[in-house]
This record gives sequence, C-alpha cells and structure tokens, in this order.
Amino acid sequence: MQHLPPVLTPTSASMDDLCDELSRLADTITDVTDWPSESLRLCGQRGVYRWFLPEDLGGYGWSASDQIRGYLRLSQADLTTTFVITQYMGAVRRIAASRNTAVIESWLEKLASGQQFSTVGISHLTTSRRHLTRPVLRAEHTADGYILDGLAPWVTGAPHADLYIVGATLPNSQQVLLAVPSSLAGIQAGPGHELVALSASCTDQVSFDSVHVHQSMLLNGPGENVLKSATGIRTGGLQTSTLAIGLGQAAVHFLSSEASNRHDLQAAANELQQEVDALTQRLLNASEGETDCDTSEIRTAANRLALRSTQAALTAAKGAGFVKGHPVGRWCREALFFLVWSCPQPIAQAHLCELAFDTHS
Ligand SMILES: Cc1cc2nc3c(=O)[nH]c(=O)nc-3n(C[C@H](O)[C@H](O)[C@H](O)COP(=O)(O)OP(=O)(O)OC[C@H]3O[C@@H](n4cnc5c(N)ncnc54)[C@H](O)[C@@H]3O)c2cc1C
Repeated sequence: MQHLPPVLTPTSASMDDLCDELSRLADTITDVTDWPSESLRLCGQRGVYRWFLPEDLGGYGWSASDQIRGYLRLSQADLTTTFVITQYMGAVRRIAASRNTAVIESWLEKLASGQQFSTVGISHLTTSRRHLTRPVLRAEHTADGYILDGLAPWVTGAPHADLYIVGATLPNSQQVLLAVPSSLAGIQAGPGHELVALSASCTDQVSFDSVHVHQSMLLNGPGENVLKSATGIRTGGLQTSTLAIGLGQAAVHFLSSEASNRHDLQAAANELQQEVDALTQRLLNASEGETDCDTSEIRTAANRLALRSTQAALTAAKGAGFVKGHPVGRWCREALFFLVWSCPQPIAQAHLCELAFDTHS
C-alpha cells in the first residue's frame, strides 16, 4: 500500500495531494446514499482530525489560524465532507474541553484516528426550535445519571455516528451536555433528509425514548448555557465563515480559469479574488484574537461572498453550468446553506434587510 504522510502544516505538499483527492471524490458525493466514507477515511489517514487537538491529547496542536487555513483548503476542495468534519470535530473538541477523563480515555483516540465517528446535536440550545415553549430534548436527573426524552432535530451524519454529543434541558431550565453512545437502547436516527445541497452529509433528527445515560458521560453542566461555558472551542463562529469563504474561493478559481481565455470575465474575477483575499485576512486576524474584528460582520460578508461568487461562476459557465453534474451548479446550491446553517438572528436579519431593500433601484 502507498505510504501516505500526515498533513502537518496547512501549506505542505501533502495538503495539496489530499485536497486534489477530495476534490476528485466530491463529484461523486451528491445524494443521501453517498455518505463520504472514503473521503473521511482519507482525512483520518492523513491526520486531519489531529489538527484540532492539543499534543497532550494525541493531536498536532495546530494554532487557531492554521485550523482556519486547513478548513479553507478542505472546503474549497469538498464542502460536504468538510462540513461533516466540522460537526465531527465539534464533538471531539467538546470531549477534549470537558476534562471528563472517562470519556476522553474511552473515546478520544478512536475518534482522532478516524476509527469511530461522532457528531453534535446541539443547535436546539441556540438556533433551532427556540420559539417553542417545551424544549425538544429533555433530560431528567436520576440516581446514576440522566434520562433523555425527545429529539435532537438536526444531527449531521446521524445514522453513521458511534457517539452523539447532545444538549438537553432539565425541568428547572438548566442544561446538560452529554456524550451518548448510539448503541444505547431507545435511540433512533433518521437516514438523512434529501436537502437542497449537502444531502450526503446525512443530516437528520435523532430521537431519544427514555434513554438512560450514565453520569460518567456528562461533559458539561448542569447549568445555564452549557455550550458557551465549554472552554477550548476557540474558533467559535469563525468556522462557518471559513467554509463560506472556501466555497467562494472555489467559485472564484473557476471564474479566473475561464477568464484566462475570456477577457470579458477578467475584471469580475480580479475583483472577487481581491474580496476573497481581504476577507481571508480579516478571518485570520480574528482567529488570532484581534479584537477590532467583528465576527458577525465577517459572517455576513462571507455569506454574501459565497452567494455572489457562485452565481458569478454560474453566469460565466452559462447553460453548461446549469446541467446537473457541473460543479458550478452544485456550488450555487451549497452557497444557500450558509443562509440557514448556524445563522443567529442578527445575521439572518441583516440578510433579510439586504434582500428586501434593493439599494440599486
Ligand atoms: C444541512 C444542515 C445540517 C445541520 N447540522 C447540524 C448538526 O450537525 N448539529 C446541530 O446541532 N445543528 C445542525 N444544523 C442546525 C442549524 O445549525 C440551525 O440550527 C437550523 O438550520 C435552524 O433551522 P430550524 O428550521 O431548526 O429553525 P427553527 O427556528 O426551529 O424554525 C423552524 C420553523 O419554525 C417556524 N418558526 C421559526 N421561528 C419562529 C417564530 N419565532 N415564531 C413562530 N414560528 C417560527 C418557521 O416556520 C420555521 O420554518 C444543521 C442544519 C442544516 C440545514
């Protein structure tokens, strides 16, 4: 078997190889039956999951800005697999940050090596179903742990996970964050919704019917806002912007290559490339802790860039780009995802204003 070196820095030749391979496989990942197991296996083999962990926990301890650089490259090559990885790493980082040695010892290395898969069901504590009076996923404290009832409405890779990291609400409104093995009795995962884009991420609900979770699986809480108090999740909301910019870069790259033969496209390609570069710099500054970088502003700008650059690429690709199977059509659909993924109310409101009030009329 060919020796495949780990990707130890975001600018290494092994990163180029990995991205070439992911980009090639991305064209075969479309439906809910196309779970990207091969792409995820390759990433595990190349050590991608270790980028996000400190060295004392078996990781490579990449800095926040290198993690951003890594995600930029991966998302440019294959947004679906990269999105799945963000949810997987969301689970891994919450385990690492919990300091729960029992969960760390029994799960972390298997997850970091890619041998097992984990994902998160936490958005019902932040951006999903918040208008409902009854929490969708409820926990009750028992003598030796918690009983879960209800559902996590959105879980990426739901039918493929060995372990779920879920948030639930207690009768007194306090929250808990639990590591829940998918093998426990009473858990049922949907197969994945057919989505406008990213269907192969196999995102669906996971229901919990009187599921007994042992106290030893508690990662955080009980308390208010267990997601905020989980330390160690340093890149926070920036990762969503990173993937939007990565997608924008893929579209601009296409536009630039078309422009090499079609001079009428040159000005648009140059303008959009400058915008990608400037926004990437703002993103990296923010990840390095520069305080005058507003992460909400970056997110709004990244969403806008993803939508505009993919549609510019489609305009350049013309009817050929509108035929199913052309990557530009896929990128346009994928850009819509950023309007709904982890999109807090102020950012959604900014988009609504922009769409409703046409400044050019
Ligand atoms: C492809 C995909 C993958 C995802 N993966 C994950 C994941 O792995 N883990 C995770 O935790 N989350 C995940 N999410 C969730 C995501 O981050 C957001 O939380 C989610 O998109 C919010 O949408 P919602 O329909 O649940 O919002 P809701 O706010 O629940 O809206 C649902 C519906 O309720 C109605 N409604 C909304 N607000 C109000 C109101 N104020 N009053 C009355 N009615 C209202 C509307 O009709 C709306 O269509 C994923 C989402 C998507 C689309």
